[in-house]
Amino acid sequence: MAARSKRQNPDEMATLEFETSDGVEVINSFDSMGLREDLLRGIYAYGFEKPSAIQQRSIQPIMKGRDVIAQSQSGTGKTATFSIGVLQKIETQTRETQVLILSPTRELALQIQKVILALGDYMSVQCHACIGGTNLAEDIRKLDYGQHIVSGTPGRVFDMIKRRNLRTRGIKMLVLDEADEMLNKGFKEQIYDVYRYLPPGTQVVLISATLPHEILEITNKFMTDPVRILVKRDELTLEGIKQFFVAVEREEWKFDTLCDLYDTLTITQAVIFCNTKRKVDWLSQKMLEANFTVSSMHGDMPQKERDSIMKEFRSGATRVLITTDIWARGIDVQQVSLVINYDLPNNRELYIHRIGRSGRFGRKGVAINFVKNDDIRILRDIEQYYATQIDEMPMNVADLI
Ligand code: ADP
Repeated sequence: MAARSKRQNPDEMATLEFETSDGVEVINSFDSMGLREDLLRGIYAYGFEKPSAIQQRSIQPIMKGRDVIAQSQSGTGKTATFSIGVLQKIETQTRETQVLILSPTRELALQIQKVILALGDYMSVQCHACIGGTNLAEDIRKLDYGQHIVSGTPGRVFDMIKRRNLRTRGIKMLVLDEADEMLNKGFKEQIYDVYRYLPPGTQVVLISATLPHEILEITNKFMTDPVRILVKRDELTLEGIKQFFVAVEREEWKFDTLCDLYDTLTITQAVIFCNTKRKVDWLSQKMLEANFTVSSMHGDMPQKERDSIMKEFRSGATRVLITTDIWARGIDVQQVSLVINYDLPNNRELYIHRIGRSGRFGRKGVAINFVKNDDIRILRDIEQYYATQIDEMPMNVADLI
């Protein structure tokens, strides 16, 4: 794992203000949460000392079996929140599947599996990543062996349920990470397909940095009196992430602007977002031709290749990654301190998620938006919507990283 950069004290991370349901307690140490000893040991061994704000509020209701809707800014420890809640609920005497976690990308499902295995290191817990693009027979073998927790993507998970290799009888909790995305058009039907196979009364936990109104409205269809821990829209951008724009006027100017910024990109690690897979291919090719070292990733690549690109980037062997929104949500690489929107994202939620790939857990981050003339309006809209500030990029931007 790459060296950890300096970070702020979690308490100072952001002026975190939540809108919580009545009765939500704030528990400010892992010791006083009533967690099982072997889990507590795993948490400390992983390097956590003190729970973050969302952890202080949400672990407890998850442990108590309540349906929970938990929102908090990117990089503030949401994955660890539900992972700890899930681990606390597992009975390891049997090997029945008890918890199902669904997320939108294979990389995120894998990352969640790794976090759970690390935090549960002293619990002899079985956690399987059930994702597309992997060997079916191997998936079946692992599920037949017995997995307490399954972290997966909806397509493969549903397939395994229908084949009866993933038995749902013992499932007591469903976690939807990036819940707004999972309940959006593209995934909603698949989620309901899976949900119909779960025992009645399954506890449901929804997690995301963004939870638009229309998503919150449909939660009453499958949740019972949920505990809500929510963040106001104008509190959603993190103080630690400075946001800028570069006016490029025309599309053709973006490439030169990026080349000019290359030295800044490699100060630590950077992620560059394009809106299409074709553009990712085109831009990486053009950067390579101009003798810049970059790596790239998108959803049309074979899973093996995606895995090795992730591995290289996580280890710091590669520093600049050009990618699509496959990378926008949830992926945690602490060394990323710069995000470039080569293209502006297609919606406001994606903007929050993309810039949140930097500035993890209180670290500093910089986001730079390339804007053509007609994009300025969109950027101003984002600025207003989140009550944040996006200034013109200063000359000394490298000093801010
Ligand atoms: P989110 O899901 O909110 O985007 P993550 O759970 O991925 O955030 O956490 C972001 C980073 O902060 C991860 O690298 C994680 O290991 C670290 N982290 C989470 N909780 C704590 C904690 N209580 N103490 C120290 N580091 C933490």
